[in-house]
Parts: sequence; C-alpha cells; structure tokens
Amino acid sequence: MELNESLIRTVQDFPKPGIQFKDITPLLKDPSGVKQCLHAMMPDPDTVVDVVVGIESRGFILGPMMAQSLNCGFVPIRKKGKLPHQTLEASYDLEYGSATIEIHRDAIQPGDRVLLHDDVLATGGTAVAAVKLIEALGGKVVCCSFIIELSALKARPLIDRYPIKVAYQF
Ligand code: AMP
Repeated sequence: MELNESLIRTVQDFPKPGIQFKDITPLLKDPSGVKQCLHAMMPDPDTVVDVVVGIESRGFILGPMMAQSLNCGFVPIRKKGKLPHQTLEASYDLEYGSATIEIHRDAIQPGDRVLLHDDVLATGGTAVAAVKLIEALGGKVVCCSFIIELSALKARPLIDRYPIKVAYQF
C-alpha cells in the first residue's frame, strides 16, 4: 500500500524560525489516508498489546483509534500539571530548556504490554522519557509507533531495542 506523502504538510518556520513543522491536518481530513497510516503503524500481527500509551497532544488523535482496533485501552501521557490523579513524572532536555511529562501511576499494571504512540519522532527526547515512565510502572514496551520519523535527527538508535513502526519517513 503506497502512502501519500502529500498528506503531510511541511510548514516552514513554525512555531519558530528554523523549524520545519510537520502538519498532519491534511492527513486527518483524508479517511483512506488515515486508514493506511493506521495500518502502517500497527505492530506485527503476533504482538499482544494490553494498552496503547499516547503522548500529548497529537498522540491523542490516532492513539485511541489504534487502541480500539487492537481492542485495548488508551492511556494519555500529558504535560506536567494536566493529569488530575497521582502521577509519575519524567523530565527531558529540549533545544532550549526542558520539559516534563506525566502519567497516572495507576494507568499501567506491572507486566502490561504497551504500544507507545506519538505523531512525530524528532530528536527522540519525548519518546525516551515516555519509555522511562512506562517501564518505571512495570510496563513492557512491545512497539513504538509514529506517524512521522524525521530520519535526519537520528533518534532511532535511542529506542531501537523495541520494534518501531513508522508511516512516513522524511
Ligand atoms: P522529540 O522529543 O524531539 O522527538 O519531539 C517529539 C515531539 O515534538 C512530538 O510530540 C511532536 O509532536 C513534536 N515535534 C517535534 N518536531 C516536530 C516537527 N518538526 N513537526 C511537528 N511536530 C514536531
């Protein structure tokens, strides 16, 4: 199945100069494009998934669709201060400054097989922090699924001890 790269719009200098923002809104408007993208991000058929974990905010769009199709639950990882119950947090460095993400402590049970999902794998800092949270709660990452990988940023080695599924590589 050929994925249509024109459904991913590159916006220059957003949200700040020098960033080439990958805009997935054209993809979201195209139902067959979404279907193909979901298919490309699915784990191998013999992989059992107990929970899909999606990262705020664009991991909340296709993540729950993947969970529905895998017949499992969805768990959000959010920016610090957004989740109401008891949380576990992880911080990581950005180009300038740092960021902190959180997960509910009771969202993952020890031994749960987790599919981690986000829209873009860029430097990998967000995904690495998310893996830390999942594993700190006793979860086992069985697949990392992204809509887009920015290959030039070379994040793959940071997480390639897990199977990785990517729909679009740039
Ligand atoms: P990173 O931690 O560098 O891998 O960045 C991943 C996170 O930042 C994802 O949650 C993306 O939503 C966002 N992100 C990073 N770079 C881009 C980009 N060029 N276009 C759109 N989103 C991006």
